Amino acid sequence: MAEAILLAGKEKRVLAGHPWVYRSEVSTIRGDFAPGEVLDVRDARGRFLGRGYANPASQIFIRLLTRKDEPVDRNFFRRRLEAAAAYRQKIVKNTTAYRVVNAEADFLPALVVDRYGACLVVQFLALGIERFKALLVELLVELFNPLGIYERSDVNVRAREGLAPESGPLFGTVPQFTEIDEGGIRFRVDLHTGQKTGFFLDQRENRRAVAELAAGARVLDCFCYTGGFAVSAALGGAASVLGVEISGPALALARENAALNGVAERCTFREANAFDILRQLADEGERFDLVILDPPAFTKSKEALPGAIRGYKEINLRAMKLLRPGGFLVTCSCSYHLTEDLFLSVVMAAASDARRTLRLVELRRQARDHPVLLAAPETYYLKCGIFQVF
Ligand code: SAH
Repeated sequence: MAEAILLAGKEKRVLAGHPWVYRSEVSTIRGDFAPGEVLDVRDARGRFLGRGYANPASQIFIRLLTRKDEPVDRNFFRRRLEAAAAYRQKIVKNTTAYRVVNAEADFLPALVVDRYGACLVVQFLALGIERFKALLVELLVELFNPLGIYERSDVNVRAREGLAPESGPLFGTVPQFTEIDEGGIRFRVDLHTGQKTGFFLDQRENRRAVAELAAGARVLDCFCYTGGFAVSAALGGAASVLGVEISGPALALARENAALNGVAERCTFREANAFDILRQLADEGERFDLVILDPPAFTKSKEALPGAIRGYKEINLRAMKLLRPGGFLVTCSCSYHLTEDLFLSVVMAAASDARRTLRLVELRRQARDHPVLLAAPETYYLKCGIFQVF
């Protein structure tokens, strides 16, 4: 097996528990390896640090699979998948849809496996894990006995690994639409062309938190996708809910989901740009008791951060203006580059401009089936602040 020797001092992040090695941190490679193959990683003094797959075409040169001197074979992957499933058995309750494997945070870098009832939806996001696709599909069938496995590797990050987007069935049959049950709420999910792998599973616990605040409220759900927060709020007893979403197909599902749960008469959905609607509602003098902001990542790079910050500030400012005193703002950001500190400072700046005082009720994160690896800040991306606005 080939070996990558790190430059002196560059072993620190790996020793702390981070699974990535950048190209600039490697001094020499001993032996031959094909792109995507597994190699050993050693510090400058030759001490074994771990074993991972390497892609010379990627900025992230090596992703560690293990810190032990153990073979990376069928049994290895079987144990990893079993451990990931066992964790979910403990921490995920009361839902038929959840993340089974959360990539780096489950010690299976660049592999995502989501369960939607009897089906699995998977993403292979790096060359090294792509090479194990056939084996992993076989193991998923063996361990979970799914009706079908569908691939949704049609994401931009694959380009950074020199990989083309791919999607389609990998095993059995996966219908385009399926229905999940999330704590008694029914959602129809598009497993073939929905966003992410079909549903924002990472917001599950935050949807429950929103439902608890919704009794009797006039609710505005901006960037509502298929109605996750909107329907949760309606079932939580909201007097009325307005959902705003720019994607027509997502909105069609949002309407279906409201109907499925018997709350269609209290839910209205508008296909529009949330920025425009927020301005328009303010001009019309509308007031709400609860506003949810769950925009897409406004930036996927550090360079685009200033523009993204302006966007986040603007929607938060507008949402605050729409809230009656004592109302609640649930504001999210899934941009990893907008750190928690930055996120809070953006919300604070918006409050200052809006001349409103905010009380932090709760600072929430992605759901527990999307765990965070403490040494790898990249695995913490979803912030969800709940504020009372005065
Ligand atoms: N809250 C949702 C997930 C929202 S994801 C849930 O829990 O399921 C962000 C959504 O914002 C996407 O559906 C995307 O289509 C939509 N979107 C992106 N830009 C938008 C804009 N300018 N106005 C309204 N919606 C937008």
